[in-house]
Amino acid sequence: MNKAISILNKYFGYDSFRRGQEEIINTVNDKKDVLAVMPTGGGKSICYQIPALMLEGITIVISPLISLMKDQVDTLNELEIKAAYINSSLSDNEIFYILTDVKNKKTKILYIAPERLNSMSFVNLMKNLDVSMIAIDEAHCVSQWGHDFRKSYRNIPDFINIFPKRPVVACFTATATKEVRDDIVSVLELRNPKVFITGFNRENLKIKVIKGEVKKKYILDYVGKNSGQSGIVYCSTRKEVDSVYELLFGKFRTVTRYHGGLSDEERKRNQENFIYDKSNIIVATNAFGMGIDKPNVRYVIHYNMPRNIENYYQEIGRAGRDGLNSECIMLYSPRDVQIQKFLIENSTESEERKAHEYKKLRTITDFIHTDNCLRNYILDYFEEKYEGECGTCSNCSGNYEMTDRTIDAQKVLSCVYRMKRPYGINMIVDVLKGSKNQKVLGFKLNELTTYGIMKEYTKEDLKSFVNTLIAHNYLDYIDGEFPVVTGNEKSVRVLKSQEKVLFKNVKKSAPVFEHNELF
Ligand code: ADP
Ligand code: ZN
Repeated sequence: MNKAISILNKYFGYDSFRRGQEEIINTVNDKKDVLAVMPTGGGKSICYQIPALMLEGITIVISPLISLMKDQVDTLNELEIKAAYINSSLSDNEIFYILTDVKNKKTKILYIAPERLNSMSFVNLMKNLDVSMIAIDEAHCVSQWGHDFRKSYRNIPDFINIFPKRPVVACFTATATKEVRDDIVSVLELRNPKVFITGFNRENLKIKVIKGEVKKKYILDYVGKNSGQSGIVYCSTRKEVDSVYELLFGKFRTVTRYHGGLSDEERKRNQENFIYDKSNIIVATNAFGMGIDKPNVRYVIHYNMPRNIENYYQEIGRAGRDGLNSECIMLYSPRDVQIQKFLIENSTESEERKAHEYKKLRTITDFIHTDNCLRNYILDYFEEKYEGECGTCSNCSGNYEMTDRTIDAQKVLSCVYRMKRPYGINMIVDVLKGSKNQKVLGFKLNELTTYGIMKEYTKEDLKSFVNTLIAHNYLDYIDGEFPVVTGNEKSVRVLKSQEKVLFKNVKKSAPVFEHNELF
């Protein structure tokens, strides 16, 4: 048996590695830098703990979360692994004793908060020790693009460079966007790092996007049919949380809520009631869920579309921690995009950052409107390879037939071309619908031959169709506060009848839920 697996067995009591773990461990043991992107709960800790036990010398783990640090060290000590931590919760005396142990080689793994690197005495002490690895948890904190930028993380590269013999550097994060990854590599000056992106797939989550339903009715139905189950309902604003909470509370008493507008005390109480199953449903903003590890959450409903795929995936990841099948349902209406735009526009973020948020907002809007496998779309977004279709998401299961929408697509695309300059989706829809809207008349768009050529459709259907064309790259979307749509090479091919447009047509009569199969 190889050494890594025997350590896994002996210390941690597991039989086999999860995907990616062994490769990461081997790479670190070969003294090659690593950047590992794994979702929360994916099992990253042992990816640095096992090499720490195998390498000579000590491993320093830089972690921003004081509470997690203590938990980890306690667990390691129970497993008879010599670990310790230093952070601001300890007294100078305690720190002195810990550092004495470190000096005397009694410690194998030392956890520190990044702020510790501001202490010259700490840095000088480390310099003369045999540090074989520096593991950096939550490595996205070095990036301005991450959601948690921490200034103190910027001290890490200097720290790495003080050692006469450079330790191997292993970075871990659950944030997988390309710009964050690139930033981690460049700011931390990683040397030819091997990048691992793994473990994002959660087979037991059944992902559904539901469009065009009356949300209130849907959610009452759904919760009614699953009244014994535990679930989370996410909304994008506090106001929306209150309104959904009241709706549900009127019928089911075991509902609670969570958002930033409640007192600390009430938030804490509600959260605990949910965790200990006194309330089985919690209606919440995205403030809820950090660090919560409730195993039996059977469903997560997004009452509103979240701002981006990262948030979405993190939120649905709270379902099915016990490995049992669970449903993730996103209830979409076009108003959700408006809410998110409003939140972005009114945030205090820089213009650059807002532009970035708009781009991500479009990506999740594409996710809603794509016809392809939803799991595939997400894993592709995180750059994890996944072959084929999952067979369980709402796009690859269920009742649908492929329909030839080429003629409809040609109508939309020729309208976009005839409008001469780029306009937003609403304006295009207004022209296709033959609206007498002032703006349409003002720009004389009512004189186009495509004016009113799709008036038999509802506005909603047209909007959704244009979005699906965008999601499948038949049109380009230029994001921003006032996004516009333009044609591209693919639109030209469709207009010249060189390419057919086939979309799934979900039969309305199809059952919306298939619980029995699940629970
Ligand atoms: P995170 O990536 O969030 O740091 P952890 O390292 O805390 O995740 O791991 C999440 C859970 O998965 C822990 O309970 C851990 O013990 C467990 N785990 C990690 N690796 C394995 C494995 N190879 N087999 C079984 N369970 C594992
Ligand atoms: Zn699928």
